[in-house]
Amino acid sequence: MADIFLTNTLTHKKEKFIPINPPKVGMYTCGMTVYDYAHIGHGRKYVTDDILKRVLTVNGYKVEHVQNVTDVGHLVSDADEGEDKLEKGAAKQGKTVWEVAEFFTNNFYESMDKLNIEKPNFICKATDHIKEQIELVQKLMDKEFAYDTPEAVYFDISKFPKYGEAFGQKLEDKKVAVRGEVQTGEHKKNPADFTLWFKRIGRFENHTMHWDSPWGDGFPGWHIECSAMSMKYLGEQIDIHTGGEDHISIHHPNEIAQSEAATGKTPFVKYWLHTAFLMVDGRKMSKSLNNFYTVEDVEKKGFDPLDLRYLYLGAHYRDPLNFTWDSLEASQTALSKLKSQIFQLHQSSAGEPNRTVLSEDKEIKIEEYRNEFSEAINDDLNTARGLAVLWSMLGSNIPSGDKYDLAMSFDEILGLKLNETKSIEIPENISSLMEERDRLRSEGKFEEADKIRDRIKDAGFDVSDKSLK
Ligand code: AMP
Ligand code: ZN
Repeated sequence: MADIFLTNTLTHKKEKFIPINPPKVGMYTCGMTVYDYAHIGHGRKYVTDDILKRVLTVNGYKVEHVQNVTDVGHLVSDADEGEDKLEKGAAKQGKTVWEVAEFFTNNFYESMDKLNIEKPNFICKATDHIKEQIELVQKLMDKEFAYDTPEAVYFDISKFPKYGEAFGQKLEDKKVAVRGEVQTGEHKKNPADFTLWFKRIGRFENHTMHWDSPWGDGFPGWHIECSAMSMKYLGEQIDIHTGGEDHISIHHPNEIAQSEAATGKTPFVKYWLHTAFLMVDGRKMSKSLNNFYTVEDVEKKGFDPLDLRYLYLGAHYRDPLNFTWDSLEASQTALSKLKSQIFQLHQSSAGEPNRTVLSEDKEIKIEEYRNEFSEAINDDLNTARGLAVLWSMLGSNIPSGDKYDLAMSFDEILGLKLNETKSIEIPENISSLMEERDRLRSEGKFEEADKIRDRIKDAGFDVSDKSLK
């Protein structure tokens, strides 16, 4: 197995990836809060996870991938302080919270499918795992890491001295970061204590989703679902946990605290990977800022969702990426050229003679490209460098068939469906030859027209009457 290096947010360093029980890799991904449409910012984050999963798989690991669906409303993130997102979404749509959750869950997976993101092995809804969440809160109560109050059950950060240190944060900074939650906690001991279970009283008196619990009727806090479901499907310690960079400040430190407190095992997660934001006009693209485009918006403007995937791959996942329609257009042109070249390679390699009689330097070159690509991609998922290797390989003098095979093997990771050629860009000289052939045919000069057809064929295109296929 080749070495894979990943930047771990726990250490802020690029580390060699060594899973707990190779070749198994347990990977947990924070999913979406399903109260509004999935947008292309989500697309960026989940394409990163998809690349990571493909890289691990191609390198021989058996990845078990779990992703949650946050279908219980939660209160904090993205700046809409204190509001329940699902209830807000339901009111906006004139539907029940359950209908809203189902509709947007489907919308999310349809959008991700268009971006050629492979589905996780387990997709788990928070509402289907209330029992597991209650059990975990009970464990924390039993171990005195949690306390009950009239309005909620809280995690007591004073009992977990490492709280917040995981990602190198200072508790002082965190007090500011959790301000949105402070208002809910009249009986909180510490402003940074976070909610494990909300009671259906006060401002949550009419909260639509609610369940019985040892602490009364209510609903779970947001953070607990990820710990409960991650442990249920992947065990108490896992290899990789991913999320967007916004989760570094609150959600993930809370997951670490409650999980390690409950199990007594450290670390809860060996490698934390965070994807930087897709931005618009210098701000995070987000549901709450309402500055987002969906995959459908992209399609309506005449783009293939894979143009977007190409755009994401051109930047490193840890660097912010500013979205513009111009940059998407440039990606569309590049991808279309790529597909056109690969289509031509396929055509011309079909008639290529015995491909085993290659000169030694060509064999070496092929191996070099293969290694360069896997080194790039195994180096903290450097997809931009991977694309550069692909372009350089296509421009080299190795035989067409080998170029085609290499491109296909690179695409197992890139996921650009390079073998699908429905949007081929026809080079200008070929279009002119086609026109000339049509003219000759219309004049009844079939012999001359056939000669032109042969020239078109030599260039790697097939002519069937007027169109190319
Ligand atoms: P949410 O539904 O807001 O909880 O988001 C689901 C996941 O997508 C989280 O891991 C977020 O960090 C991530 N995410 C949301 N917006 C963006 C964005 N503009 N760019 C990258 N990731 C995002
Ligand atoms: Zn999570």
